[in-house]
Amino acid sequence: MARRFPTGFMEAAVPEGLGFAHSRLDRLANRRGDDAFISACLAKAEARFILAAGDALMIRPGAAATALFARPEAPEIDQASDLLFLGQDIASGAPVFAAVLPTATENPEAAMADDRAIIDLRAIANQGMLPPGDLGMLAEAKALSIWHRTHRHCSRCGALSVAATGGWKRVCTACGGEHFPRTDPVVIMLAVDGDRCLLGRQPRFPPGMYSALAGFLEPGETVEDAVRREIAEEAGIACGAVRYLGSQPWPFPMSLMIGCIAEATSTHIAIDQDELEDARWFTRAEAAAMIAGTHGEGLKAPHPVAIAHWLLRRFVDDDPCQPADL
Ligand SMILES: [Zn+2]
Repeated sequence: MARRFPTGFMEAAVPEGLGFAHSRLDRLANRRGDDAFISACLAKAEARFILAAGDALMIRPGAAATALFARPEAPEIDQASDLLFLGQDIASGAPVFAAVLPTATENPEAAMADDRAIIDLRAIANQGMLPPGDLGMLAEAKALSIWHRTHRHCSRCGALSVAATGGWKRVCTACGGEHFPRTDPVVIMLAVDGDRCLLGRQPRFPPGMYSALAGFLEPGETVEDAVRREIAEEAGIACGAVRYLGSQPWPFPMSLMIGCIAEATSTHIAIDQDELEDARWFTRAEAAAMIAGTHGEGLKAPHPVAIAHWLLRRFVDDDPCQPADL
């Protein structure tokens, strides 16, 4: 009898709690090349700025927490190496820019003198300091600003480059070479053996937490082959069919997580101890208990902000052993 394999969880709607996957901006990508439009947006009183300092962003915490500042509220904007056009706030119509701050302003104490703070984006997301709808915009700001900070020289000739098209490319001042923002694809996946799924632990994880295996997609490799290779390398499990379930921007520094599920064709685990300190098969009931926080050994699922949580939830909710319901 045909078996059902879990279907994607983002085909109709993005899960509410999935971090960085909801944006309040229309990127207006077709307007980026219009310098007069970008200049006019910058000059508007309602323009808002996200201040990006490496991995951290400036926010005003509290009941009306925000990462969007008007120019007079954030004099640091004048020290920005680049101002990047992120798009237009769909609700208010205000243009939104990222200000790439120099290293000198990456001093949390310097920004704590008033009601603002410079906070790591992981903490902002994990602790729910801002509405979930703001995180996609912050991921765009953070990933793009990090790219500008780390790609100031032409990779063809070594000369300085300058930002163009609202910050969506850099052009070399010597050879004219054009360079575009990078996104690094990462596969993240559950291997499934009937009623069990495979989760692993890295030493840096919080105590008791197990998560989906993950690894970078390599040049010249398909998503499906990367999924099979990573599971084989990290846990010694062979896999056959692979299905894509959903994706998540992960701006640390500029990745895209590609969530998949893979049908295991072997069951004996042999972990790569450079990558993992443990990997185990978990039944659907155990996985449900980990999500609910009721697992007998105190084992935990990843935070709902991470796509690994939603892969596990999909496995729990959609029994792959049920007959196909066609
Ligand atoms: Zn060059």
